[in-house]
Amino acid sequence: MIPIAKPQIGEEEIKAVQDVMNSGIISQGEAVREFEENFADYIGVENAVAVNSGTAALHTALLANGIGPGDEVITTPFTFIATANSILFTGAKPAFVDIEEDTFNIDAEKIQDKITPKTKAIMPVHLYGQPADMKRIMEIAGDHNLIVIEDACQAHGAEFNKIKVGNFGTGCFSFYPTKNMTTSEGGIITTNDKKFAETANALRNHGSLIRYYHEILGYNYRMTDIGAAIGITQLKKLDKFNEIRIKNAQYLTKRLKDIRGILTPIVKNDRKHVFNQYTLRIRSEFGERDKVIEILNKNGVGTAIYYPLPVHQQRLYMNLGYTGKFPSSERMANDVLSLPVHPSVTEDNLDLIAETFNNINNEKN
Ligand SMILES: *Cc1c(COP(=O)(O)O)cnc(C)c1O
Repeated sequence: MIPIAKPQIGEEEIKAVQDVMNSGIISQGEAVREFEENFADYIGVENAVAVNSGTAALHTALLANGIGPGDEVITTPFTFIATANSILFTGAKPAFVDIEEDTFNIDAEKIQDKITPKTKAIMPVHLYGQPADMKRIMEIAGDHNLIVIEDACQAHGAEFNKIKVGNFGTGCFSFYPTKNMTTSEGGIITTNDKKFAETANALRNHGSLIRYYHEILGYNYRMTDIGAAIGITQLKKLDKFNEIRIKNAQYLTKRLKDIRGILTPIVKNDRKHVFNQYTLRIRSEFGERDKVIEILNKNGVGTAIYYPLPVHQQRLYMNLGYTGKFPSSERMANDVLSLPVHPSVTEDNLDLIAETFNNINNEKN
């Protein structure tokens, strides 16, 4: 089976972990500091604060921006649950805005209608690795004096107008094994604001900057030096990994784009899409999605649906009283299918995927 995701762990990562283990300092230490510096440099910001998951990065970024009970944060319902849940953690409320059907990202033109006196922030998600429309989002945020927190958990190295995501607002990244780079579990916050970074630094460590003196209510969100050592090594390879993902995606699109009922991913001119996921749409003219998945799997092709149920329709959110309708998100949840393009996928693998689609198409006619 060609897996839908595969962390790229090599000899360098194993050696880096061994070195940390041998050093005896395995909790947050020198390796975390080095990783933060390297990641900040890579994104092009002044500061990075490492934490132990992407979810922790989002939660910390919201708290450090002063978001809490009574506030509303505008975001997309077509995302991983962590985006919206991190807003709930603070006592604030997610206010959902539907998505564009070409990029699957929040529809910036619909944000204005959702702004109320309680709105404090906009949290766009760069879904699958393609940046949201950061030009419009930054304009709207500027006009209404709103904070921007980017959920860049799937978009390490992605660019909008040649600027890396994580530069526009507070950036939040995940290093879970399925992402473009990994630290096993892990996350990081990027910012140009030094005071903000200090607050985030305290929040991840029980609200403490001086050991055993606690200024604010914080958490244990610390990254380990073991994770950071993996991250330092992975970051050096990230551009190469992304290049392979992009090349694989272009190849698949070339082979699938003319099949009726298959809508291959659209990449906007002003953006660099880093293909954490290669996600296409299957329209009913092509066939039933479940049937297509069954045939792909039988032929050894791993697949995934990100995401089968939008956040506003999850039981948790229904129970919280969310009743809004987001037709594009709901339609995409029914149509999308992700195929493997990670760096271990070979041209033979891609040919197998394309041939399987062609066979399904031919049998139908
Ligand atoms: C992975 C992911 C997260 C959460 O990251 P974790 O490291 O799993 O906590 C948040 N948002 C999006 C869009 C993600 O893909």
